[in-house]
Amino acid sequence: MLECPLCNQLINIYQVCPKCHQPVVDGGSLGNYVGPYSPYEEGGLEWGESVHSCTHLIYCPSCGEDWPVEIGMVSMR
Ligand SMILES: [Zn+2]
Ligand SMILES: [Zn+2]
Repeated sequence: MLECPLCNQLINIYQVCPKCHQPVVDGGSLGNYVGPYSPYEEGGLEWGESVHSCTHLIYCPSCGEDWPVEIGMVSMR
């Protein structure tokens, strides 16, 4: 089963803000803001390709900039 390593706190975001070069922080999965494809629509399509990545909203606490980053899912045991 594929899980998002960032949601599971296995990894940290190491990006820096392109504007002010301060470390950015994870604002959480974008799935919390925008609903993913409903698995109950589209007749049997289960999550589609969205299962392979988890989109997080990254933001810079210094300048307030935020942008989405796709996190690749990893296999968890
Ligand atoms: Zn995630
Ligand atoms: Zn910034």
